[in-house]
Amino acid sequence: MNKNFTTSTVALVGIPYDKKSSFLQGAAFAPAQIRQTLHGGAGNYWTENFFNPIENEHFHDQGDLVIEDYFDIEKKVANILSKGFRILALGGDHSITYPILKAHRPFYEDLHILHIDAHGDLYDKFEGDPYSHACPFARIMEEGLCSHLVQVGIRSLNPHQRKQGKMFGVETIEMKSLEEKLPSLQFEKPLYISLDLDGLDPAFAPGVAHPEPGGLSTRQVLSLIQRIQAPIVGADIVELIPHRDVAGITAALATKLLKEIAGKMFENPLP
Ligand code: MN
Ligand code: MN
Repeated sequence: MNKNFTTSTVALVGIPYDKKSSFLQGAAFAPAQIRQTLHGGAGNYWTENFFNPIENEHFHDQGDLVIEDYFDIEKKVANILSKGFRILALGGDHSITYPILKAHRPFYEDLHILHIDAHGDLYDKFEGDPYSHACPFARIMEEGLCSHLVQVGIRSLNPHQRKQGKMFGVETIEMKSLEEKLPSLQFEKPLYISLDLDGLDPAFAPGVAHPEPGGLSTRQVLSLIQRIQAPIVGADIVELIPHRDVAGITAALATKLLKEIAGKMFENPLP
């Protein structure tokens, strides 16, 4: 072990909910697919920093939440947080991030968010729905659920989303400004990571509903995660659509990122 990993409980929680997907459902099947890939024998449980978060005694796979209604997500996540766990959630579509963050509010006075995505997900409403998977970060910002939102990989903003981002003071790191060099991100507060797999280029993540060429590489996303210095409050990995995947590439990617984020949660515990 080359770092000081500390124990602190992490709950892996599937949230198989995709009813807020505007274009294509199927993300509800992702948690099962990711677990199958994780335990299927094709890879081991170790991170690149030489840590095994999956078999750690402080890592608990709590299975999938049963979600009848969108607003159940907040209650069920709050219940897990009240037991002292940090959550690593497997979506589901990106709409789950708003109720997850709402559930965190009573437990964390202030947090920052690193949001990796091709899309800003900042629509005030999308097709009439303020809770669409195109809207979670508008809800999060207007309710003050985080004091600083950094979006990385963005490459599909329209005038409305650009305006929303400005209004909410979002730090947007657009893909066009990224080229080869990754920025050094500094977070002053405990960090929540929200990872939409379409933030990666479709070449790396074909199994998504809204493939947007020109995205991040797997290596870039791994570097972003591995360089985080701030304590990690929680995380989600969303928008894998297994039936759109090719040869399990995106499921393998989600599984790799799950391991690295879980490892990072142990490496960067809360103070
Ligand atoms: Mn997206
Ligand atoms: Mn998204």
